[in-house]
Amino acid sequence: MFRIGIGHDTHRLAEGRPLILGGVEIESERGAEGHSDADALAHAITDAILGALCEGDIGVHFPDRDPRWKDADSLQLLARVVWLASQSGYRVINVDANVSLERPRLRPHIQEMRERLAHVLSVEANCVSVKAKTGEGLDAVGEGRAVVAQAVVLLGRA
Ligand code: MG
Repeated sequence: MFRIGIGHDTHRLAEGRPLILGGVEIESERGAEGHSDADALAHAITDAILGALCEGDIGVHFPDRDPRWKDADSLQLLARVVWLASQSGYRVINVDANVSLERPRLRPHIQEMRERLAHVLSVEANCVSVKAKTGEGLDAVGEGRAVVAQAVVLLGRA
C-alpha cells in the first residue's frame, strides 16, 4: 500500500538571518526568518510526510510558540516525522521538491541538499529530487523577499 503527501512552505527573507535549505547553510546576504532555523525545503518535506500519514501539519507537531523548537535544526524535525511514519509502518520511497529563490543561485548546492535529506529520510540520494527555481523577477520570490518550497512524498509499507 502506498500513501502520497504534498507540502508547501514560504519564509520571508531578511538580513542578518542564515539561509538554510535542505540542511545546507548557503552564503547569502539575506536569510530566512522563522522560529526554527527556517529551512523551507525541510519544512515542505516534513509537511508532505505528515500529509501522507493524515497526521496534521508541521504546526501541530512543532508549534512555533514552543521554545523547544526555537532555532531548531529542521532536519531533526524531519527525522521525527520519518520516525512517526515508521511507527505507522511506512517508509519514504521517494521525494520530489521545488525550491524557489531569486538569489543566490542554488544549483551548486543541490547535490549536498539531496544527500543530507536522503540520509535523514533513510533513502538513497537518487530517491530525493530537488529542483531549483526562481521567480523570474515577479512575485515575492522574484523580488527577493521570500523563499518558497514545495514537495511531494510517496510512502510505502515498511
Ligand atoms: Mg516553515
